[in-house]
Amino acid sequence: MRRSLILFLKVAAVVTIAVWLANRPGQVEFVWQGQVFETSIGVLVLLVGLLMAGAAFGYRFWRGMVRAPGTIGRARLGSRREGGYRALTNGMVAVAAGDPTAARRYAKKADALLDEPPLTMLLSAQAAQLSGDETAAGRYFEAMLEREETEFLGLRGLLNQALKQDDRVKALSFVDLARKLRPNTPWVLATAFELEVRQRKWREAQASLAAAVKAGAIEAGEGRRHKAAILIERSREAEAAGDMPTALELAHKATSLLPGFAPAINREAALLARADRLKQAARLIEKAWEQAPHLTLAQAYLDLAPREGGALERVKWIEKLHRLKPEAAEVLAVLGEAALAAQLWGAARTHLTRAEQVSPSRRIYRLLAELEAKEHEDMVAARNWLAKAEEAPDDPAWLCDRCGTAHPVWTALCRHCGAFDVLTWRTPTAAAHLPAPDARALAVIDRSSEGPR
Ligand SMILES: [Zn+2]
Repeated sequence: MRRSLILFLKVAAVVTIAVWLANRPGQVEFVWQGQVFETSIGVLVLLVGLLMAGAAFGYRFWRGMVRAPGTIGRARLGSRREGGYRALTNGMVAVAAGDPTAARRYAKKADALLDEPPLTMLLSAQAAQLSGDETAAGRYFEAMLEREETEFLGLRGLLNQALKQDDRVKALSFVDLARKLRPNTPWVLATAFELEVRQRKWREAQASLAAAVKAGAIEAGEGRRHKAAILIERSREAEAAGDMPTALELAHKATSLLPGFAPAINREAALLARADRLKQAARLIEKAWEQAPHLTLAQAYLDLAPREGGALERVKWIEKLHRLKPEAAEVLAVLGEAALAAQLWGAARTHLTRAEQVSPSRRIYRLLAELEAKEHEDMVAARNWLAKAEEAPDDPAWLCDRCGTAHPVWTALCRHCGAFDVLTWRTPTAAAHLPAPDARALAVIDRSSEGPR
């Protein structure tokens, strides 16, 4: 549209000039080499115009001749690159489709056609991995470390290799390098955290956790729970090192962070008791108990009972908790057991019978059997209770959500599979009831079904 307008204006200009000249006739006369030339103005203008057009055409032709080889070379290079990119794309498709032979072939082709190692090295590494050649893949990843633009990707490749080989120490060293390159990458932070907790590097893990939550790699609520778990482990370490003030401070931080979390409360209470702050310890458990009764809280409370008082004093002590929340089933077993130890048969029977009605468990039946045997020496009744115990659901415990292993005491890491912050307080399911060898076999099946990570 614009081109035709310009052409139209040009033609109009020429016609206007021609008409203008034709309306104003005139003669031109010039002498050249002793000869006189005579012509009209119109012819002269036409001659000059033709001369200029000829010169312009000649110049263009000459320019075109000079440039030609470059243009042809560029066209050839362009098609080479295009072929290279096509091979690269096909190679990536082959990787995604899980075709190692095609992936390798395209990787080779792309490498030959494109002079861009950053692009082709990753494909070559992935192709090598796909055909199971981890050594070759490792070589490519290491080569990627040499170049600034591929360094991070190379590190990621090497890290994944180390994780696959379960070499956590090596993996952590790669994560540390990756963290230096890009400190706020979510997957780097989350991986660093996972590796640090598994190696019990609690302090480092806490820092990584904070960064991971900030980067959005770990959700805030989950982050808070993880932090409390780390603080409890740090408190244990401080206690083991004999640093009681720090141990208490860390436990207190955990309790404030996750109010109602029994392991944190029990830890703080035990440390307070060791520092002769019994009243404070008891108050801490009482407060938590009122909000959420938990069997381990009742047990920890019983541990605070004055030693010199004997069995009777222990019953009186635990009754305080019972009075605070009489409907809570969790205290009944503890109360019944304490009464049994104090030979308060009537109280023991009341509490244990009530416990059996509210939440029957193996432990309750065993205590009832003990009561029958001790109070009346009624061995038949005792055996009946024991038979019931065999069939009863197991007592709740800290169970690993991954492998199902029961833990007598809460820990941040599962002692069987090493997973972090996966213990929950619950009643074991039927599978966990199996005798030990079968349970181990189950755990193995469990893990193999997870596949390599
Ligand atoms: Zn586990």
